[in-house]
Parts: sequence; C-alpha cells; structure tokens
Amino acid sequence: MFRKCLAVCAVTAVLAWSSSAQDARAVIGDASRAMGVDALKTVQYSATGLDFALGQAPNPASPWPKFINKSYTRMINFDTPASRVERVRVQGENPPHGGGQQPLVGEQPQNQTIIVSADTPWVQQLEILMTPHGFLRAAMKRNATVEARTMGGKKYNVVTFLGDNKAKVNGYINPQNMVERVETWIDNPFLGDMPFEAIYSDYKDAGGAQFPMHIVQKQGGFPIFDLNVTDVKVNAAVNIQPQQGRGGAPAAAAAPANPPAQSEKLGDGVYLITGGYAVIAIDFKDYIAIVESGQNEPRALAVIAEAKRLIPGKPIKYLINTHSHIDHSSGLRGFVAEGSTILTHQVNKAYLEKILSTPHTLNPDKAQQLGKKPVVEAVGEKKVLTDGTHVVELHHLQNFGHHDGMLIVYLPKEKVLLEADGYNPQATTAPPPSPPSPFTVSLLDNIRRLKLDVQRIVPVHYPADNRVVTMAELTRWVGRTPSTQ
Ligand SMILES: [Zn+2]
Repeated sequence: MFRKCLAVCAVTAVLAWSSSAQDARAVIGDASRAMGVDALKTVQYSATGLDFALGQAPNPASPWPKFINKSYTRMINFDTPASRVERVRVQGENPPHGGGQQPLVGEQPQNQTIIVSADTPWVQQLEILMTPHGFLRAAMKRNATVEARTMGGKKYNVVTFLGDNKAKVNGYINPQNMVERVETWIDNPFLGDMPFEAIYSDYKDAGGAQFPMHIVQKQGGFPIFDLNVTDVKVNAAVNIQPQQGRGGAPAAAAAPANPPAQSEKLGDGVYLITGGYAVIAIDFKDYIAIVESGQNEPRALAVIAEAKRLIPGKPIKYLINTHSHIDHSSGLRGFVAEGSTILTHQVNKAYLEKILSTPHTLNPDKAQQLGKKPVVEAVGEKKVLTDGTHVVELHHLQNFGHHDGMLIVYLPKEKVLLEADGYNPQATTAPPPSPPSPFTVSLLDNIRRLKLDVQRIVPVHYPADNRVVTMAELTRWVGRTPSTQ
C-alpha cells in the first residue's frame, strides 16, 4: 500500500518537474559559485557544542538527552569522498537523565571515519552528501529538479534528488544562494521512515568558500548535533585513513548481526532466552507472555520462533516492554506483526501507539507488509498476570532517572527479577564505579521498597560471560554489602 503510493508519487513528481531540470542546473550552479564549491577540495573545521543520544530520552515527551562535546574536529575530502570526526564527550545532563550510557564518567574520546566506496551504506554517504558543499556536488550529478517553496515566511529554491534508498533529498537554497537546510528520510527499525535534517546558518567567508558557523542535525524530529564552529581551514592537506583496515564503517551503523537464540529453563514453564538482549518467556495456561522484544526485528523474530519451539501451540498474547528507549523497542514491531498486545507503563502508551504506527516504506518490515496496527495496554504502578499457576508481577520504578516509564518484571515463585538499564553488568574484574550510578542505586532502592525476594537478576543487557547475576553482585556494585540490603 505505502510502496504503491511511493511509486505513484515518484512518477507524478517526475512529470511535474520534468521541465525544471534545466532550471535546477542553473540554481545549483549559482549556489555552487556563491559558496565556492568547485574550488573546495577539502575542509577541516573545529567546533564545540552538543551531541544527543537518538531514542534515549528520559520520557517520550523529551528531546534526546545531551552530551557536551568539549572538542570536535571534522575533516572532509570531497573528491574521495571521505570524512573523519574526532571528538571528546562529557556528561551533559546533570543529574543524569535518560539513556545513552549515562552517566558518562570523565572524558570519552570518539572518532568516526567514512571513506565512500561502492559498498558504503547510504546512511554513511549522507554524512558527506548532507553538508552544504557535498549536497550541491551530489545534486549536480544526480538529475536534480527544483521548485520554489516558502517556509516560515522565507522563499527558497528547493533542489531535490532521489537518494539510493529511494527517499528524496531536499536542499533549501536561500535568496543569497546559500544552502540553509538539507533534509531526507532514512530507515530506522523503531522510528520507521525517519526524518534526517541538517540546518546551516551564520555563513562566513573561509578562504573563498562560504561556510556555516552553526550546524544543527536532527533525527526523528529532535537534534542529534548542535555545533558552533570555531575554526575553518579550507583546502588543507587532510589525511583520512581507513579505520582498522576495513572501509571505515563505524560499528554502530553496521547492520546488526544476531547470534542464534538460546534458552535456559528458569522454572516450570519459565524460560530465559539469550543470544541478544535477554528475554523471558512464560507458559501460561492459554497463552505465552514474553518480557522484552529484543533489540531489532531479526532478534524479535528469533525470540518468537524460540518461544514457540519451547511452548508449542499457544499464541503470544502479551509482550511486556520495559521502557520506550529505541534499543529496547526496536523489536516491538515483530510482536505487532504477531498480533501480541504490548504492555508498557502508561507514560509510554501514546508514544508507542504513534511510533509503532509510523510507515516503514523505505525498508518494509513484517508489520508493514501485513498492515498490522499496534495494540498497546497501559500499566500503572503494578500489574499481575496469573493463571493460578504462574505469577508475573510488573512494577513501575520510582525516581528512576534513566526513564520515567520503566517497568521491572518479578516472578515471585522463581524469585527472578528482570531489569533493563538499572544494572548493566561488566566483567567481574571491573571495579565498581565511584560514585555509583544513580540508576543502579534507584533500582536497589525500588527492590527494597517493593520488598522483592530476589535470588537471580536477569539484566536485559546480559553479561558477556553468561554468569548468573545475584543481589550480592548488585549491592557490591553500588558499594553496599548484602547484609545492609
Ligand atoms: Zn534505556
């Protein structure tokens, strides 16, 4: 349905714009001359500002949480094309609020190298194509069209070409021939056809080229970068080498590979499924309930298959979602396709209904192909699922800075507690953080408040060595002893 619409729209667009291809070349040419595109082979710039963790907001109404970039340097070679970013990040939210591996202790150096080759993913190519000069270079080569558009009372020539992912790439050129904004859409397993925008302002002359001194990037409607440029070097020698000898693809952008799902019996009719984000499946009398959806659709489908192998002949009636962060919700659409009802804290209900209904036309998943709509049920402070034999308690965590709508899941018969992002176990040799994470302290406080008798903790971010995690380990991690629990 959406695919059909996309195709029809594309045909209509070509017809409407066929007379403007010549105009587009003129508009791109004028902008390129004004911005010094032809003479600009490389650029190196430094900045300070903020980056933000996509999909890790402390609650669904908030923007993505911020991190301070103490230093930021980017080199771009437009001819190769290639790009390298080097930055140092520090904690930005005080007190810590939201995900993205908060609290960040000390300084975190990060770098990203992209050297475009035939097999470079489109989303990485966009990092160069969406720069003002990169956009104009690409538009000249890619049969761009143009139309006049007014936005916010300002007039623009909007130059458009089709990306390799079949989404439009639009560049907004202002009356001074500067590229003010570039927008497109990319596939995201949770957020669907996700808007990706770059906004450029405060243009200054830098060695004959015009360069924006303020750069903002947004994904999913909220900023992911906000940089104030402090220094620009045009056509300096830049040396961008492949990262670890492999084409320079950052690990985060590579397609996630899932190991096979494995399972372990936690009790009668209760199974732990590992091989990715940890999941618990419960065999109720008439149905299966699953806790956590996995970190992406392939993981969700593997979990569904493993649960049905362990518990044959029953529908997956409930999927219990701990919280609406992107990494804990990207498998949800697999369960929407399955027809499961999603149980989540009430803070997340409207948000999940909206996001899980977002079109996924760029990379149609199973829910998109089946045309399935989400069914989301809100949970308050506590909910109990039981068939008389099995008991599953859902509890809302109070004063939990990582996420306002976080559920933990407690199985009183098995004395098992599943938790997400309160305690993410490290190697047993790692020293506990000092001071302890406020999220871990809050988890422990909530376990005490609820008087839960926990023998085994199942962290959704399961320990790499597959060890059994105990309350003693949790209390040690926050600098307390089990006797003072
Ligand atoms: Zn989280």
